[in-house]
Amino acid sequence: MKFGGTSIATGENIRRVAKIVAHTVKKDCKVIVVVSALAGITNQLAVEANQAKKKNENQIQKFMRKLIEKHVATAKKAIENKSIQKDVEKVIKKTVNALEKVLTGICYVGEITPKSMDYVMSFGERLSAPIVEGALQDLKLQTQCFTGKEAGIVTDDNFGEAKPLMNVTTHQAKGRLEPLLERNFVPVVTGYIAATQDGVVTTLGRGGSDYTATILGVALAADEVWIWTDVDGIMTTDPKIVPSAKMLPQLSYGEAAEMAIFGAKAMHPSALEPVIQAGIPVRIRNVFNPENHGTLIADGQEVKSKEVVKAVAMIKDVAMINIKGTAMVGAPGSYSKIFDVLGKNKINIMMVSTAVSEANISLIIRRNLLGRTLSTLEIAFLGGSLVNEITSEDDVCVIAAMGANMKGTLGVASRIFTAIAQESINIRMIAQGSSELNISFVVKEKDGEAAVRAIHKEFKLDRI
Ligand code: ADP
Ligand code: ASP
Ligand code: MG
Repeated sequence: MKFGGTSIATGENIRRVAKIVAHTVKKDCKVIVVVSALAGITNQLAVEANQAKKKNENQIQKFMRKLIEKHVATAKKAIENKSIQKDVEKVIKKTVNALEKVLTGICYVGEITPKSMDYVMSFGERLSAPIVEGALQDLKLQTQCFTGKEAGIVTDDNFGEAKPLMNVTTHQAKGRLEPLLERNFVPVVTGYIAATQDGVVTTLGRGGSDYTATILGVALAADEVWIWTDVDGIMTTDPKIVPSAKMLPQLSYGEAAEMAIFGAKAMHPSALEPVIQAGIPVRIRNVFNPENHGTLIADGQEVKSKEVVKAVAMIKDVAMINIKGTAMVGAPGSYSKIFDVLGKNKINIMMVSTAVSEANISLIIRRNLLGRTLSTLEIAFLGGSLVNEITSEDDVCVIAAMGANMKGTLGVASRIFTAIAQESINIRMIAQGSSELNISFVVKEKDGEAAVRAIHKEFKLDRI
């Protein structure tokens, strides 16, 4: 069971979570708990790391006090037993102390590397997990707290977006967690963080606690992985944009992966990779409405729907890069040079579109990589004849309409684009993968929500 940031945002919520776990354990199930950081903490860590880089030392003390206050207050509400409370408080203070040292180091050096950033980012989960552990002990459950590294999750060294090495992880996680499960313990594992083979802390990418849960699910051959969050399940779109969005009671792995990859923030984009191979079902459930069975993601669970489009997502935090070059026309290998340079610099391209004239290629990347991408391209192509101009836009978003039945159905694109045109929204770029599971396009971010609403309405998704 994985619990997200909002599910454990307050002491009251943590007690709710502890009760859900205790209730399941009572039914003779063995449970491993994976927790995120308290809501908002990971973002704050990123901000403070950047402040430290700017040598803002005073800020560090203030942040340390805020962190201790927040976590201690949450622990006090989550845990009744005074002695457990005290123990958890001690762990919180010790952990914040360790963070202070790192931030002070960054402050003195005035530099932050992807490696040190991951280390800083790991503290949110390291602070939340002991509170959840305490809340479980409060309900008389036997527990033990692990960081991802202690649980045995090993990754490559792609800091910020590390990938698990499944064989060694399975071997280690089994060895460390299974004996505890046999003794009816409930292990509590920090989501999102792991370590390289050399023990250096890595993170699995933002939202990575989902990934931790599926990695451990596969490593321990779980019957199911449950992702507990703050909405009923995977819905036709983000209910924060369209309140009438409907829950999808079941999804195939393919459909769910498509949605996760295309930004239905409900799940980390890589989280389904391990479970697909192992055939382990995943359920998305609501901690605030545990009677609801949520969305079941498993083999052969396609949504039954007359409409071809079943869901629509908006992906923010992206940027568009346009590369123009008359010399690219009819020159074999010109695209591969661009992709090669970006690939070697570990810059992931999310979407590509080119014109038949071939004088122009447009790419979508994560917005936080924009500076690095532009400098990489400029260094690689400066003074050469292939590329004449590189421009970028950082106020765009991707809209993706998804559904397995799109394949071979005529007129889907025309319905989508007519609906968008009727809202007078300008489309900046279009791509349709040949899998025909989705059609994605790019609009200005300010138009994104209106575009989502227009498609949701056109395909009557509130009546799916
Ligand atoms: P957690 O902290 O539990 O990981 P997230 O904030 O990462 O939660 O993801 C849950 C949120 O994802 C929901 O509150 C919802 O606003 C948003 N969301 C976006 N698209 C969808 C979708 N298609 N279905 C469900 N939730 C979605
Ligand atoms: N705390 C991490 C984040 O905010 C991981 C997670 O919540 O899944 O990205
Ligand atoms: Mg999440």
